[in-house]
Amino acid sequence: MKLQIDDLEFAPLFSPEAIQKRIAEIAEQINIDFEGRRPIFVGILNGSFMFAADLVKEIVVPCEVTFTKLASYLGGVSSTRTLRDDFDLHVNITGKDVILVEDIIDTGNTIKYLIEKLLLRNPASITVCTLLFKPDSVEHSIEELKYVAFQIPNQFVVGYGLDYKELGRNLKGIYKKI
Ligand code: 5GP
Ligand code: MG
Ligand code: MG
Repeated sequence: MKLQIDDLEFAPLFSPEAIQKRIAEIAEQINIDFEGRRPIFVGILNGSFMFAADLVKEIVVPCEVTFTKLASYLGGVSSTRTLRDDFDLHVNITGKDVILVEDIIDTGNTIKYLIEKLLLRNPASITVCTLLFKPDSVEHSIEELKYVAFQIPNQFVVGYGLDYKELGRNLKGIYKKI
């Protein structure tokens, strides 16, 4: 079924069921990898709010959950390369195992910037968990990237937290631009 958001048309890419199934699989792996530890999940707003919420519901190791806010796209369908640091992480992460929860890694500029900033605070480790990853667009090697729910081609997507002109974040599924 086609979907109109403002001036663009979208078609379904991942169903709500497919998303939840992948989240359960990733959470299971995180539960194994972080057994005996106490990670702090840091969701990157706005895009990751839904993914972070559903992911942490499946986590059984004791964990902290917090958010930080960065913006890069600012309304369009391609990366602006200008990052806006909307609100900083005020929780102390020194000595902690940080799991960054991102909606999508496109060029990788956002996540790279955040990793470099957080490394200065001496966490025990930084691991990246992303819902979507565009391997054809990424411009950095991100060794911290360990969990990827879905790899997608270089196409613009919305839904499940991701927006087009701030619309579509509330959709339960993920849709691609047609
Ligand atoms: P990067 O810095 O990796 O180029 O882009 C990261 C940010 O750009 C993401 O967190 C997301 O907010 C936005 N972004 C990148 N690709 C897409 C896309 O296909 N759809 C939407 N809605 N946002 C995207
Ligand atoms: Mg994001
Ligand atoms: Mg956006």
